[in-house]
Amino acid sequence: MNKKIRNIIDKTLDFIYPKTCLTCNQVLAMDLEKYFCERCLPTIEYIDTFCEKCGKKIHKDDECKDCKEILHYFDKGRSLFVYKDEIKQAIIDYKYHQDLSKGKSFARLFYNHIDEINDWIIDVVVPVPLHKEKYIERGFNQSEIIAKELSCLSNFDYNNKSLVRVKNTDSQKSLKRADRFQNMQESFFVSDNTFKDKTVLLVDDVYTTGATIDSCAKALLDAEAKNVYFITVATGEVV
Ligand SMILES: [Zn+2]
Ligand SMILES: [Zn+2]
Repeated sequence: MNKKIRNIIDKTLDFIYPKTCLTCNQVLAMDLEKYFCERCLPTIEYIDTFCEKCGKKIHKDDECKDCKEILHYFDKGRSLFVYKDEIKQAIIDYKYHQDLSKGKSFARLFYNHIDEINDWIIDVVVPVPLHKEKYIERGFNQSEIIAKELSCLSNFDYNNKSLVRVKNTDSQKSLKRADRFQNMQESFFVSDNTFKDKTVLLVDDVYTTGATIDSCAKALLDAEAKNVYFITVATGEVV
C-alpha cells in the first residue's frame, strides 16, 4: 500500500481508536510518531549502540561477550529496547493480557526506527511460530501480529505457514544458556521450498540467548534460504 494512503488510514483509525502510551496506556495526542507519554518517555531505554551481530546493547567499541562465545546461524539482528522495567511489562501485557493494539505500534516502531530493514534487502517477513498447542491455548501469536503489520507497512511478502514449530519446548526461563540451545535443537522445520534463495526477516517479541532465533535460522538455511536476519521488540542484556 502507498505510504501516503496508509498514513491517512492510520490517522483516521487513530481518531476513532485513540493511540495509548505503550507502557502506561494513557491516551496520546494524535501523532503517528508518538508511542510513549511524556512521563514514560524518559524511562525508556532505546538501544542506540549495539553488537553488529546480535543487536544487544553494548558500549561503543566494546566486544559482545555473547557473540564471542556463540557462533550464530542468523546473519544479523536488531532490537528496539532493553528487556526490563516498563518495556518488559508492556510485552507481558501484550502477550499474556491480550493487549493486542500494542502489536501494531511495535511494527510501526520497527518500520520507523530500524534503518537496517531497508539495507538488508528483505524478500519475506516470517514470525517466529508458536507450537500448535500453545497457539490454541493463547489464541494468537504475538509475533504474527507484529510481522503482518510490518509486511503491510514495508510491502515485504509475509509468510506464517511454511516455518513450523514441531517441538513444544517448555518455558526456557529456568534453563542455563547451553541447556536452552540444547532444548531448542530441531524445534522448527520448513514445510516447503518457498524460502529457497530468499532473504528472510524473522520477527519475535524478545531475544534472550538467541536459542529460538538460531533454531529458526538453522531450519531456514537447511531449506536453502539465502540470508536470515531478525528483529525483536526487546533483548536481554549481555551476560
Ligand atoms: Zn506512559
Ligand atoms: Zn552480540
